[in-house]
Amino acid sequence: MKIGDRVVCIKTHSQGVVVKDREYSIYAKRVCKCGDVSFDVGIENLHNMNQCPCKQIYQSDAHLVSSKLFAPLQPFKSNSISKALAKEAMKEIVEQETLEVC
Ligand SMILES: [Zn+2]
Repeated sequence: MKIGDRVVCIKTHSQGVVVKDREYSIYAKRVCKCGDVSFDVGIENLHNMNQCPCKQIYQSDAHLVSSKLFAPLQPFKSNSISKALAKEAMKEIVEQETLEVC
């Protein structure tokens, strides 16, 4: 995942900064000395400070969120179709196939 990519949150942040299944864009990326990677996904940081799990402190007016909470967004026909709708459509197809088997 790199700057400019669309990503989807796969795990809600412990403080709800990012929410599972919501889509975000990567505006900036920070790689810590410890190897931890975090992204600026456009979330405002009211404390102007971020702390890496290794305790290193970074000043930033964006809330840097661990890259572990994101996965690359897989395009599904059109970006205008939400992930939830796509999931529903898949479920319907599976159900129809099941009926035919019966
Ligand atoms: Zn670190």
